Amino acid sequence: MNTKTIIRTEHPRHMHMVGDGFRVANYLPWYGKTMEDDIASPFIMLDYNAPWSIPPQKDGYRPGVGFHPHRGFETVTVVYSWEVEHQDTAGGGGVIGPDEVQWMTAGSGLLHNEFMTEKFSRAGGIQHAVQLWVNLPSKYKMVEPRYQALTRESIPEVDFSWWRVRVIAGEYDAIRWPAETFSPVELYDIRFDTEGEFTTTVPEWYTTAILITEGNIMIADKVYHHGDMIHFSKIGEGIRFTGNAGTKVLLMAGEPLWEPVAHYWPFVMNTEDEIRQAIQDYNAGKFERK
Ligand code: MN
Repeated sequence: MNTKTIIRTEHPRHMHMVGDGFRVANYLPWYGKTMEDDIASPFIMLDYNAPWSIPPQKDGYRPGVGFHPHRGFETVTVVYSWEVEHQDTAGGGGVIGPDEVQWMTAGSGLLHNEFMTEKFSRAGGIQHAVQLWVNLPSKYKMVEPRYQALTRESIPEVDFSWWRVRVIAGEYDAIRWPAETFSPVELYDIRFDTEGEFTTTVPEWYTTAILITEGNIMIADKVYHHGDMIHFSKIGEGIRFTGNAGTKVLLMAGEPLWEPVAHYWPFVMNTEDEIRQAIQDYNAGKFERK
């Protein structure tokens, strides 16, 4: 079997704040690229919130980000450590805790906010998470918004002798996360209990990348560190790397959509007309319904 080769590596970048609760480094689109370049389809954005310490807050203050819109794609929040509470205008809401994932389909659009829970804000603590944006195929861009709350118990785990794969989306070793995605997407939270080698296959022509969220890995005798993101070739199928005890890796793979991308910050559509429509609908308060 042909192995996918490394085509690009991204290293930790300078951080920026999203609201006052998220301290992230942006890895997708690639440096100097825009979403319109669509080089990692179906993935259009990845923000990594490396571990940082939030001090205890006073007087019930909760860091976070206030109401903002999304249309035309999905946001996938993978939490390693923190407790965040969200609310939206589609009537959804809830808490995402450690080792949980929220898969939000913005679809036709909603407004939502994301704040640390009262408990987390009062005590302070380590925040560590990833937010990945998955594009929607054009025929699904205007679907009804929905949430898939993946709790610790509901994420299937495939156990091997030295590592575990938590299957957030797609299928691993015949274990399938039952949630629906709108195009083929694989998302694995891989955790090494002891040093060992991880191998898997990803279909040829899929976009494939990994982000190291803890520890180090080795690929072909080269060491990659926490915060590195590695992009693999579409040619080939095999993925293989070695991790140390405690290493965590997020593997994302998906079938490219091969559709044009028009982007204006929280809206990701196919044409400029659709973007204008999104802005018009937003200004007309249409995201506040439901
Ligand atoms: Mn958001």
